[in-house]
Amino acid sequence: MHYINNNSITYCTDEAKYGVSGRVNPVSERYPVRLTNYYAGLIKSPEDAIWKQCMPDARELEDNTQCPDPLDEKTLSPVPGLIHRYPDRVVLLVSNRCAVYCRFCMRKRMVGSGDEPMGEADLCTALTYIAAHPEIHDVILSGGDPLMLDDDSLSVVLTGLRAIPHVSIIRIGTRVPVTLPARITPELCTLLKQFHPLYINTHFNHPAEITVDSTKACTLLADAGIPLGNQTVLLRGVNDTVETMRTLMTGLLALRVRPYYLHQMDLVQGTAHFRTSVRTGLELMRGLRGHVSGLAVPHYVIDLPGGKGKVAILPDDVEIEGNTLYLRTYTGERVTYQEITVPQE
Ligand SMILES: *Cc1c(COP(=O)(O)O)cnc(C)c1O
Ligand code: SF4
Repeated sequence: MHYINNNSITYCTDEAKYGVSGRVNPVSERYPVRLTNYYAGLIKSPEDAIWKQCMPDARELEDNTQCPDPLDEKTLSPVPGLIHRYPDRVVLLVSNRCAVYCRFCMRKRMVGSGDEPMGEADLCTALTYIAAHPEIHDVILSGGDPLMLDDDSLSVVLTGLRAIPHVSIIRIGTRVPVTLPARITPELCTLLKQFHPLYINTHFNHPAEITVDSTKACTLLADAGIPLGNQTVLLRGVNDTVETMRTLMTGLLALRVRPYYLHQMDLVQGTAHFRTSVRTGLELMRGLRGHVSGLAVPHYVIDLPGGKGKVAILPDDVEIEGNTLYLRTYTGERVTYQEITVPQE
């Protein structure tokens, strides 16, 4: 399998934009740095929300307390490149490359390292595993970024998956609409729409990422009949205010992108400076529910260490006493709700 031709991407090589080199180099030796010219162009000033997401920071090296792989993805991998944590769905890691290396990445331990896409042999083994497990109905292409593969390679993967009758849903997790929107071409959309039901979950974290170009990319995908979702990572100093979250989530809806998950930052080594408290996350969720369209409200989830899976965390707004519920409305009013249930016969 092959990545898209590197010559088709303009990466930012502007040293000035990477900051003071003394501050940057030890970090980039450990965790790769890469950003597209397009994404770098969204930076309006040093330390803004785009800068923080893609520029290396000395604090990445200072954080040595946590595990590089808290989600135990390695032990949940029955064959190389496949994560089988839930009974009916798997993640297939087809690419190790991304257009931009996000400093907060949960797979920081591996993206960019090796930089090889999944090989034919591993793909074959993974497809054989999926074919041998009829309980698998949903396959999520991830990585790295699957859309860093070229169209022919994507076609090979998708054709292989569609040949397995029990695979009903195919999903692609990609940040390319945000970081390299030019990758979303009419040709790519023509290819993808042959494999429906195919869903794409993209990854916007800040309203400044909603631009003419990313809008165009999402429009092409949506017009190809691809349901679009979004996974946002809650990031300190980037999107941890109610105002930013509301603008982001409602902005996505207008692009026909349905907010799906708001992720509490995983306990991944090298990312601690981005982590907010869960209390902050719950405050943000309270700032969304009821205040904006319900379609714009994602699930706030923690991906539990030890590979125990994602758990939705809800504002603790219910007390139950017998048949009486005390609920809090979005305006903060405490309301009594009388439950009425018919006794079972
Ligand atoms: C997140 C995740 C999934 C998909 O979970 P959904 O809640 O269905 O979106 C599947 N497998 C792994 C390993 C995951 O981390
Ligand atoms: S695009 Fe996704 S996988 Fe790639 S570096 Fe960013 S968060 Fe990690």
